[in-house]
Amino acid sequence: HNGDERAALIPRYVRVNTVKGTLEQAIDSLVSRGFVLSDPFSSRKGFCKDAHVPNLLLFSPSISFQDDPLYTSGKIILQDKASCFPAVVLSPPSINTSVVIDATAAPGNKTSHLSALMNNKGKLYAFERDKKRFQTLKMMLAKAGCSNTSPINADFLTTDPSDPQFSPVTHILLDPSCSGSGIVNRLDHLLEPGMFSLGTNAEDDSPKDDDRLDKLAGFQLMMIKHAMRFPNVQRIVYSTCSIHATENERVVGNALKSEEASNGSFELAPQSEVLPAWPRRGYSAELDSPGDAASLVRCLPGEDATNGFFVSCFVRVLPNATTKR
Ligand code: SAM
Repeated sequence: HNGDERAALIPRYVRVNTVKGTLEQAIDSLVSRGFVLSDPFSSRKGFCKDAHVPNLLLFSPSISFQDDPLYTSGKIILQDKASCFPAVVLSPPSINTSVVIDATAAPGNKTSHLSALMNNKGKLYAFERDKKRFQTLKMMLAKAGCSNTSPINADFLTTDPSDPQFSPVTHILLDPSCSGSGIVNRLDHLLEPGMFSLGTNAEDDSPKDDDRLDKLAGFQLMMIKHAMRFPNVQRIVYSTCSIHATENERVVGNALKSEEASNGSFELAPQSEVLPAWPRRGYSAELDSPGDAASLVRCLPGEDATNGFFVSCFVRVLPNATTKR
């Protein structure tokens, strides 16, 4: 498949923003305007629920929602299916004492998803280092009604994990800059300059690209290790929209071998906690422990009706690991 052919196989995905209303309310509104619960590929007005992600709807690729009242009022969010996986896997608690970090937040689709899963309760720190993208993030969170969020215009790597403000943090989402090699053409309009620090759509493996991917992988590993330093963090989700093992399985393997994860402090969450029903798992040949592949989720553009994507989840093993540091 070329890019356009692959794009035609991807439905228009719409996530209902449950901060602003229920799934049923959104469906009623759509049905009242002529949409029909049916196969989204067989008719222009057909739509259906997604099989893996709650509150996600599938529409015909030919439908646009830019001017739809549900979209302009923040009640729906246009978000690819695979990019809904990280917040679902992180599964932050929805209680008043929850404290969660989204370390790389703009434009904020995953932040608003986390906020919805937290029932807009507790506290959700959303870091974004880029000034312009930070403005987009704040606008997006206001539009989505996510009042439990605290957007912070700072480099996550410069935050002090021992800052008392962050001691209650138990869940961290890490969706850092990557090569973007999994992004299919039709979704390019969702990207903004700067989203990917070193360009997009690297599909060949020239030495120049190897170097570029190695640099990204080094940065991605630093981000995971930094997240592991938060004293009470229990669960860290690391995701990319890259199809390259260099940024995915190999980064995860190196994180597991790092000092931060050593002595069994962190391991990968079992498949039962990481979208167990999703068939495409990590590439075992790229891991020191091939058995870890079952813990990892992959999406392939053109095969899975999504963009190319990767999701992993680290969990703390030793409850008292923090006292050793
Ligand atoms: N999670 C976002 C979403 O779903 O809407 C997309 C995140 S995008 C792939 C990565 C973002 O991380 C970019 O906006 C980039 O500016 C930001 N970023 C990269 N390194 C960062 C760092 N060290 N601290 C904070 N933000 C960072």
